[in-house]
Amino acid sequence: MRDDVTIGVLALQGDVREHAEALEAVGARAVAVRRASELDAVDGLVIPGGESTAMWKLAVAFDLFDPIRKRLDEGMPAYGSCAGMIMLADHVLDAAAGQQTFGGIAITVRRNAFGRQVDSFEGPISFTGIDGELHGVFIRAPWVESVDEGASGVEVLARVSGGAADGRVASVAGDSEYGGAVPGRIVAVRQGNLLATSFHPELTGDHRVHGVFAEMVRAAR
Ligand code: GLN
Repeated sequence: MRDDVTIGVLALQGDVREHAEALEAVGARAVAVRRASELDAVDGLVIPGGESTAMWKLAVAFDLFDPIRKRLDEGMPAYGSCAGMIMLADHVLDAAAGQQTFGGIAITVRRNAFGRQVDSFEGPISFTGIDGELHGVFIRAPWVESVDEGASGVEVLARVSGGAADGRVASVAGDSEYGGAVPGRIVAVRQGNLLATSFHPELTGDHRVHGVFAEMVRAAR
């Protein structure tokens, strides 16, 4: 069902087209955002996967960094996948020198937490509010190291067990030698109008996470 919500995809870097297609599939109008005037016209914003340091530098260079922070402060709904999760986190571990984020979600994320590129992995995820399983695609993914002390209203929506920053192969719930031993790493959160996942639903053809976000945008409008 198509309606009138217009959702921007931050189009500085990363997998923009896949997010735009997923948003259109759940009935939203998707537009690319590369300048402040385009940001003004959207009801919500997706921050794609890609590389968070590059995205930060480009957002500054394109005069979008402060305008996006301002819209987020004013309550604009936003959804970040992977690098986008990092951009929405208030704090980042293993950040590049000087790396800044838009912030908004009171979490500390660890970049590249599950290991190096070769340690990218896939597996089933249960996600609060979505029936059955999602297929999680993790590519040099961050995890949420912690919800910030004193934060209120941060909901943990999904976890995977296992995985380590030292290059041990990360595995998903149920089939890991670490499976029973480590509490599952947080890989999806929501705080108010902000949603973030470590993984990339835009790469799977399953648009249910985008459906959740489109509903958040409709509710906020
Ligand atoms: N490791 C990347 C970063 O730090 C994120 C990877 C991704 O978005 N697939 O930004």
